Amino acid sequence: MSLDTRTPPVEARPERVTPREARRRLEHERASRLAQLQAIGDAGREAQAVEEADEAQVMAAQRDTIERVLREVEAALVRVQDGSYGTCPGCSKSIPVERLEILPYTQFCVPCQRKTG
Ligand SMILES: [Zn+2]
Repeated sequence: MSLDTRTPPVEARPERVTPREARRRLEHERASRLAQLQAIGDAGREAQAVEEADEAQVMAAQRDTIERVLREVEAALVRVQDGSYGTCPGCSKSIPVERLEILPYTQFCVPCQRKTG
């Protein structure tokens, strides 16, 4: 049993996500979206085969959403490379790390996102 009661070094939450970390998250995001896309593609074909038109439509909508996210992920990876990742183009401020943890591919901070819709 350790008597070392020192609190572990407070890992000060970094102000910015490191490019390495950002890339890791984005690649993870991309992989999971691609897997979703794959799953929807398979299920979508089945739905069409049995003429479940409603289901096929829902899946087409889901696929659109995922494809949009994938494009955003790609764009975010470009921003990681050019160093603009994590900076909001709307107000030039750093996007809070907490936000990037939830939405690693987001381009805008919350207030600017609301403005742009
Ligand atoms: Zn902003």
